[in-house]
Amino acid sequence: MSKSCVIIGGGIAGISAALALTKIGVQCTVYELRAAPSTIGGSINLTPNALRLLEFLEVEVQGCRVDSIEIFSLHTGKLLGELPFRKFGPGLRVLREELLRSLLCATDRKGIKVVYDSKLAAIKDDSEDTTVTAVFANGEEVQTNFILGCDGVHSAVRGQYVESSRRPEYTGVVVAYSVIDGSGIKTHFRSTALNSGRFGSLLTSYFDPDRAKIYVGAVMEIKEENDKQGWRVRGNDRQKTMDEIERRYKNSALPCVDELIKEVKDFVFYPVYKLSPGGIWSRGRVLLLGDAAHGMPPQGESTGLAIEDAVLFARVLECTPQTSVEAIFQLYEKTRRPRIDTAYKEAVARWENVKDRSWFLQKVIEWMMWVYLWYKMGDFEASMSYDVRKEEIAIEAEFEPHS
Ligand SMILES: Cc1cc2nc3c(=O)[nH]c(=O)nc-3n(C[C@H](O)[C@H](O)[C@H](O)COP(=O)(O)OP(=O)(O)OC[C@H]3O[C@@H](n4cnc5c(N)ncnc54)[C@H](O)[C@@H]3O)c2cc1C
Repeated sequence: MSKSCVIIGGGIAGISAALALTKIGVQCTVYELRAAPSTIGGSINLTPNALRLLEFLEVEVQGCRVDSIEIFSLHTGKLLGELPFRKFGPGLRVLREELLRSLLCATDRKGIKVVYDSKLAAIKDDSEDTTVTAVFANGEEVQTNFILGCDGVHSAVRGQYVESSRRPEYTGVVVAYSVIDGSGIKTHFRSTALNSGRFGSLLTSYFDPDRAKIYVGAVMEIKEENDKQGWRVRGNDRQKTMDEIERRYKNSALPCVDELIKEVKDFVFYPVYKLSPGGIWSRGRVLLLGDAAHGMPPQGESTGLAIEDAVLFARVLECTPQTSVEAIFQLYEKTRRPRIDTAYKEAVARWENVKDRSWFLQKVIEWMMWVYLWYKMGDFEASMSYDVRKEEIAIEAEFEPHS
């Protein structure tokens, strides 16, 4: 196969797509906005199915093994339930920067070019219908067979070309996270815990193989600021956020939580955005993958979804070599939509649950947690055992041969 591809965005979706496409002989170049590899987002949980795909892409990542996510009540200190991975896995808790580093080690080994300091400015349809051109802010123009927009929830590829009206919306929730030295702290959790209360959830987790450090992520409902500058000012008001964290989580029935909060010296503050459901994923020779296509509130599986997008797209491309790029995009989308739509609904429902609520509602949630987990276990198990490499691709006869 002699197709070439430009990938916009050197995050998880972009690098995974480059690895998956290189495996089937597509020549890829990744263009990344930032001057060097970097990312925020703290620690993420890699589910067993995400780990299987990373192995398939020959990516080795270090982290803390997670047999289950434990859910505790901040009010009573009791264990309310668990989401068990061990049957499928286990899972792995890693820093996002560690995952990105591991993905980039794999691109180095494969000789995939990643060009930094390259901000996509525009996309031009070429008169010749077998190519498209990416235009960068530094003036560079690159002509290619197709473009993958892997540039995250605030995607320029989507905003400039695919669907400008679909803008990210604030979810009403901010995450403020910190990484602290965990030595000497006796924790109530095995590896990862969601500590749930009336005023949000506090995520506490080990993320390194030695379990020396602890990630503390405060998920808090915060009023929207008017613009980027407003968020910047709000984020820089460290004392205000520290006061919020203390008001919401201090003096809980879990003594370790107070100790962890005391150790927090600084934090990364960011408002969480999502896209509206559905949306357009492709236009002409340009396709969106990862958060650029289906940014949803963090629900613990989005990284896996971004990697799945990459692996599935490469599979679709591989099994339809005589088909036009537009038809390949349609086939990919048709195959991919059902899983994404289900994950989106689930993510939005779970995210609403981290918002502030009455004492009574919190009590009801705590009482009913085991019923909820029992009821959802079937969906959870189906999601953990899902393998996108086995997804059926329904190739139809009417697909046009490639010009
Ligand atoms: C608080 C939080 C917690 C999360 N926790 C989890 C978790 O526990 N488990 C999980 O699976 N997922 C989690 N996620 C979600 C997960 O991190 C994302 O779904 C995933 O990173 C999406 O990858 P992506 O490559 O699509 O986008 P991104 O990671 O956002 O990467 C986009 C890349 O594109 C680049 N870019 C942007 N604009 C341009 C441009 N104009 N030109 C060139 N490059 C550009 C950016 O610099 C960036 O490198 C969490 C997310 C958040 C916000």
